[in-house]
Amino acid sequence: MPTADRVSLNVATVRTQWSLPECIAGCARHGIGAIAPWRDKLVECGVDEAARMIADHGLRVSGLCRGGMFPAADAAGRQAALDDNRQAVDQAVAIGAACLVLVVGGLPAGSKDLVDAHRQVEDGIGKTLDYARSVGMPLAIEPLHPMYAADRSCINTLRHALDICDALGDGVGVAVDVYHLWWDPELDRQIARAGAQRLLAFHVCDWLVPTTDLLLDRGMMGDGVIDIPRIRAVVETNGFAGDIEVEIFSANNWWTKDPDHVLATVIERCERVV
Ligand code: ZN
Repeated sequence: MPTADRVSLNVATVRTQWSLPECIAGCARHGIGAIAPWRDKLVECGVDEAARMIADHGLRVSGLCRGGMFPAADAAGRQAALDDNRQAVDQAVAIGAACLVLVVGGLPAGSKDLVDAHRQVEDGIGKTLDYARSVGMPLAIEPLHPMYAADRSCINTLRHALDICDALGDGVGVAVDVYHLWWDPELDRQIARAGAQRLLAFHVCDWLVPTTDLLLDRGMMGDGVIDIPRIRAVVETNGFAGDIEVEIFSANNWWTKDPDHVLATVIERCERVV
């Protein structure tokens, strides 16, 4: 089972309680080996200052959340998304991230054209990849659970993400998040297909039954129905050797708790049920 030094704190897990500098100091205090910032908190802190603090505390950066959101209703919107993704790549480089995580976007406002959204996503990743390759930053497509297809990500399976990786070539892989993918009967086969080269990130939390909010009711590992050790064994057997990133959106529970208690619980659960 992963010890604290193999764990990465996705800062969304304590996003209402702590700033990024507080998260960095908290990880160091608890012996957590890595961190995954979100861009809003990164900008709030200042990218250079964050990079300095992360280095000073000896933390790895398992990923930067997030780029993506490519589909738009018009050319200006699509260009704005590309510009934003280029900036995200630069920010990921500045903090030494292992990858830039992409939540690719769903349907543009007013659209029902899912096929076109898929096309826009592939086009946007391809254009961002040209730049990301030039600066050596891997892009990690994170397939989201199908309930987010309309508004957050129209890539909802590992198979679809890997089809896009195959079409685009080197420099792009996947983020496997157990919350989004645990239900997929093809999961093991697609993880094996990805292999070490495409497995860029591994995110954990748990699926609560019942889930009371589509976005903000994710569970602490061990409190839900996902067989996390089994999935971790599959990704590791297939070559993933990165950090175990804990990412919990929990408005009514973990976001209301003392963040030091949250981090202690994360470590205890990683050692016991991940
Ligand atoms: Zn995730």
